[in-house]
Amino acid sequence: MRISIKIKFSIFLAVLLLLTVFILSLLVLRGIKINQVEQYEKYLARQSETANVYFMQTILAESNKIPQIFLSTKGVEFAKQLELLTGQSIVLYDRNGEAVSKKLSPRELKRISQTLTYATEGKTAYQVEQDELYYLTPLRVGDEQVGVIQLYYSLTGDHDFYNRIRQTCISIGAGIFLFSFILAYIYFGFFANGIIKLEQMVDRVRDGHYETPILKRKDEIGRLSMGIQAMSRKIMTTMKGMEEEQEKLTMAVNKLSLLDQQQKQFIGNVTHEFKTPLTSIKAYLDLLEMYPDDDKLLETAVINIKSETDRLYEMVDKVLQLSSMEKYDFEYHPEKIDIKQIALSVLQSLSGKINKFSIQLETELTEAYIKADKDSIIIILINLLDNAIKYNKINGKIYVKNYIEKNQVVIEITDTGIGIPKESANRIFDPFYTVDKNRSRENGGAGLGLSLVKRYIDKQGGSIALINTDANGTTFQISFPEYRSE
Ligand code: ATP
Ligand code: MG
Repeated sequence: MRISIKIKFSIFLAVLLLLTVFILSLLVLRGIKINQVEQYEKYLARQSETANVYFMQTILAESNKIPQIFLSTKGVEFAKQLELLTGQSIVLYDRNGEAVSKKLSPRELKRISQTLTYATEGKTAYQVEQDELYYLTPLRVGDEQVGVIQLYYSLTGDHDFYNRIRQTCISIGAGIFLFSFILAYIYFGFFANGIIKLEQMVDRVRDGHYETPILKRKDEIGRLSMGIQAMSRKIMTTMKGMEEEQEKLTMAVNKLSLLDQQQKQFIGNVTHEFKTPLTSIKAYLDLLEMYPDDDKLLETAVINIKSETDRLYEMVDKVLQLSSMEKYDFEYHPEKIDIKQIALSVLQSLSGKINKFSIQLETELTEAYIKADKDSIIIILINLLDNAIKYNKINGKIYVKNYIEKNQVVIEITDTGIGIPKESANRIFDPFYTVDKNRSRENGGAGLGLSLVKRYIDKQGGSIALINTDANGTTFQISFPEYRSE
């Protein structure tokens, strides 16, 4: 069982006070005892002196002045006179220790025999038995001892007084013990409650509850509670920080392993995509080796090798751009650009391809300025328009417009092409992703355009979204913050 500190403190103080009272009582009682002994010794010495003087006077007045004879003949009478004079019960003995004033029983004689021997040898001695005191002193005439006087003294009064005082001390001790215990219990209770609350606070912190209250008191316990609160808050922030760091670390590890996986896939894709045009070129070259004089073959081979080489060149260019963007932060040259102008010039450069596919172009362009790197914007527009041409239908349409909305310059490129299936919509920005390999191959695409576009747009602080796509066509929307002169 755990005894509370309230009880421990209280018992300690009560015992301390009890001990003090005990020692004081002991000293007082001892003082009383010594005083009582002094008093009755003095009193009995005086009485024995009076008895001796009276004996002397009586002897002198007698005709027969031999003390021994006087004692043996008139001892009883003299003892009675002495008793009247001193008010004490008296027994007289002769020099040999024989009682002369009254007859003593052998038991009485035996009881005082030792003290009597002392007295017959000329010394004063007394013995105490319970409440009775027997005082024996030599009876002298001049320097000669003639007998012994025994005085009886009752100690009942002394003992009663002593016992009363002792009883009082015990009562006072018990009272003080009880009183001091109650007082200490109330007084220490105030401190003990504070300490118990502090203990509970520490227990809560140990269990992970870091919000601890402050005790409203101005003493050390109050300050201690403030200290505990500050400490537990510090622990809480440290723990939170550690948890956050751990979370970040896990995220970083996951990201790294994802990147590693993506990189492996990227390399696999590059190898695969490069192999296809190279195989085709190699096949034509093998055929030309076998039939060097076949003019028709030569003509087809030149056309195909050229187109495969173009495709390869374009692919190498895009792969290089993509991977270098991952690794290096290129120096871009942001400048004020008019989107209308730049779109018109890109459309102009693509007009040959647009015409080749008999595509009808419609524009709704308005002057709008952004701050961005011009080359990056050109690459973005070329790729988006290239897709709008490549994945369009014969005699299809491309619609390009721009406008300003909520401080954003928005460009929308809509085509009347084949559309993108819903399940592919969120993958088209991944490198090497193509909806249909065969169809892309026909058009020469390796699935790199949109991933390049996305990265360039991110770098320029813009955003891209596929806002509509179905069997009737597709709309991509890009936006950049509007340019504002400071
Ligand atoms: P690259 O651009 O590298 O020559 P690509 O055009 O195939 O090749 P992306 O531009 O990244 O690659 O496009 C990814 C895929 O998304 C395409 O293969 C195509 O299937 C689909 N796609 C992109 N734009 C359109 C569009 N306007 N209409 C229909 N499908 C599209
Ligand atoms: Mg493309």
